[in-house]
Amino acid sequence: MSDRPRVYTTEGVILRRRNIGEADSIFTVFSPTEGKFDAVARGVRKARSHMRGHLEPLTRSKLLIAHGRTLDVFTQAETISGYRAIREDLDACTFALYCAELIDRFSADREPHQDVYSLLLDVLDALDAKAPPHAVRHFELSLLSFMGYEPQFDACALCGARLAEEDVLLSASAGGFVCHDCRSRAGAGRVISVRAIKVLRYTRASSLAQFAALKLDEQLGREVQSAVAELIRYALDREPLSGKYLDQVARLPRLAPPVSDRDDVQSL
Ligand SMILES: [Zn+2]
Repeated sequence: MSDRPRVYTTEGVILRRRNIGEADSIFTVFSPTEGKFDAVARGVRKARSHMRGHLEPLTRSKLLIAHGRTLDVFTQAETISGYRAIREDLDACTFALYCAELIDRFSADREPHQDVYSLLLDVLDALDAKAPPHAVRHFELSLLSFMGYEPQFDACALCGARLAEEDVLLSASAGGFVCHDCRSRAGAGRVISVRAIKVLRYTRASSLAQFAALKLDEQLGREVQSAVAELIRYALDREPLSGKYLDQVARLPRLAPPVSDRDDVQSL
């Protein structure tokens, strides 16, 4: 057939695992060079497997992979970063898994996206360094931008008018903030406080680490979280549903964005 090499190397973050058969697992990986892909690890659930521990979800690993007829096969895996602090903290783990799930849902198979990969590493590094939950908002909004859903925060999304220093409507279907005059034709949305508008805009002017260093009180954190959640939900509904995604639609209600309060995390 072709002279395609039999094996290839890449690095990637493990997004999720599905167990098959007695001891095998299929892992979904997001790689800077390969994009998102599935591959199987034979015997990885056996105690003596040398890949065990290097292929857990939320692990960044160096991978050696063999082309398979239907599924590629992991032949070697070596941890680059295990994000130990994330694993040891229930909240951080919930946030990180949520980020991995968003990457999974927004990316198409085998479409590399270096910026999105860097973004994923940034948020994992931040959570591993015990960043507060609102760091995830920077991740969400950056991901939306990379995926072509960048919301309009600077002017009215419908008429382009400058926005007054007052509460404005945020409408996901309109594509961002909507001025007072356009509210009636903006569709559903939520009114956002001036404080939250400033926080949302700051995501554009800051790195993830800078944004994570912001001090947000609980009420403001929740307001920003709900606003971004609506943008995410709207964008996910717009994503073309491949056959694979259709299988997962039943799981959609589970995809609640993480909040800062532990009680709420537990009630998810
Ligand atoms: Zn307007």
